[in-house]
Amino acid sequence: MRITGGCHCGAIRYQVEGDLIVHALCHCSDCRRHAGAPMVGWAMYPEGAVKVTQGEPKIYASSEDGRRHFCANCGSGLFYINEKMLPGIIDVQSGTFDDPGAVPVVVHIQTAERISWMERAHELPSFERFPPQE
Ligand SMILES: [Zn+2]
Ligand SMILES: [Zn+2]
Repeated sequence: MRITGGCHCGAIRYQVEGDLIVHALCHCSDCRRHAGAPMVGWAMYPEGAVKVTQGEPKIYASSEDGRRHFCANCGSGLFYINEKMLPGIIDVQSGTFDDPGAVPVVVHIQTAERISWMERAHELPSFERFPPQE
């Protein structure tokens, strides 16, 4: 299966062709702060499966060995590589897939750092668009 994706502004495009290892929702504080979001979806692949087809991501060292690749123009987070902890592996921020539903997410990780209210977020009142205005 071929998956395509890119950043919000379109400067960076990539394609993925290979076998998914795991698709996880990460609750760690590094992901949260870098994305500015309560959690981040990561689709993990062998490094060779992902090819940047347009543009060049900027690389940010978010920890000693962690490298976060993002678009320097619009700020979208794209990839995570950690050659020490996860050699030969690339994590793709699955929210940047053209079809973000392409591969189902199967696991929550780093829940030790999860925001307390995230645990029951799926139970909150939901609106297809916005709550009715009074
Ligand atoms: Zn961009
Ligand atoms: Zn994380």
